[in-house]
Amino acid sequence: MSHADCIFCKIIKGQIPADVVYENEQVIGFRDLHPQAKLHYLFIHRQHSQNVNEMSGDPKQLQDIFHAIKDFTETEQLDSTGFRIVTNLGPHGGQTVFHTHFHVLAGEKLGSFGR
Ligand code: AMP
Repeated sequence: MSHADCIFCKIIKGQIPADVVYENEQVIGFRDLHPQAKLHYLFIHRQHSQNVNEMSGDPKQLQDIFHAIKDFTETEQLDSTGFRIVTNLGPHGGQTVFHTHFHVLAGEKLGSFGR
């Protein structure tokens, strides 16, 4: 189910533009508007959920997402140099868009986590 006021549902429906880098029946991947690394992509499921905990209620969706990321990163050979997957949940996590998304950060050596 999609949500009329959800910006990522609008990207899925083609109602607003995105720089799409990956697509299959379940998942799309596109470039983040404000990249936090040399390469910064967002992977989302076509089925709307608010966050990863909600998505985890339907494990097939997690499988679809990680299959898409595997497919994409292998095709782009990002697995040889490496990449990072991040998903934020809620205010402390820094979530700003409430359609579950997985950041894929790559293209350079990333800093370690911390404050
Ligand atoms: P988060 O803060 O984890 O919820 O991540 C939301 C991400 O979505 C941010 O990194 C934004 O830069 C990105 N973003 C927001 N709107 C768009 C858009 N229309 N196209 C691509 N990325 C977007």
